[in-house]
Amino acid sequence: MYIIFLGAPGVGKGTQAAIAAWELNLAHIASGDLFRQAAEQGTELGMQAKSYMEKGMLVPDEITIRMVLERLSAPDYESGAILDGFPRDINQAEALDTALARQAKAIDKVVYIKVGDEELLRRLSGRWVCPSCQAPYHITNSPPKVEGRCDRCGSKLQKRPDDTAEAIKKRLEVYLAQTAPLIDYYRRAGKLLEVDGEGGVDEVGSRVVSALGGGEFAYPRRG
Ligand code: AMP
Repeated sequence: MYIIFLGAPGVGKGTQAAIAAWELNLAHIASGDLFRQAAEQGTELGMQAKSYMEKGMLVPDEITIRMVLERLSAPDYESGAILDGFPRDINQAEALDTALARQAKAIDKVVYIKVGDEELLRRLSGRWVCPSCQAPYHITNSPPKVEGRCDRCGSKLQKRPDDTAEAIKKRLEVYLAQTAPLIDYYRRAGKLLEVDGEGGVDEVGSRVVSALGGGEFAYPRRG
């Protein structure tokens, strides 16, 4: 089963994709995490991606598509995956459809998470992330047990460099211009599941899992 998570920056895609991956026992690929890890490691891919990420722009399609499709061809993803942050424009969606079709596979469902603009900005400005394991936190919605430290690995939490006011504005513009058209693309394909993203992490998680036809919501919150 191949499932895409779609929504504006800050909507909680990463958090909800990780929950759905756990609930449905599927591998989770987050293109933003792959870029951040590469940037942290100082690889050539990371250096290329970094300048775009910091400005809130999309990394060019040829770099992104190659990176995600390479990852997707690994044995871990043979029986399915949750894709989070990819595709981000129509060109990427078409490349993904073509690559899956070559293996007689297809995207099954697209979870589109929606929240209001005010809540989006509140979520983005209160966000912290673990630079080592990428676990997401929020200053009020899901704070770490020990202030400033990751619950899973103990690393010091950081603000994302693209969570500045300027980069947030740019990312929202890019989302509306380039990513939002995917909503219609997948609606026309009959694959779109719209989920209300307002409310707590578990509340939204259980809506997502039930939209995907999963069983009882059992995700163990941190620790
Ligand atoms: P995210 O963690 O999904 O918010 O992504 C952070 C940043 O990584 C984005 O603002 C882009 O610069 C880059 N990025 C992540 N996924 C993609 C993608 N599918 N296409 C292009 N750029 C991406």
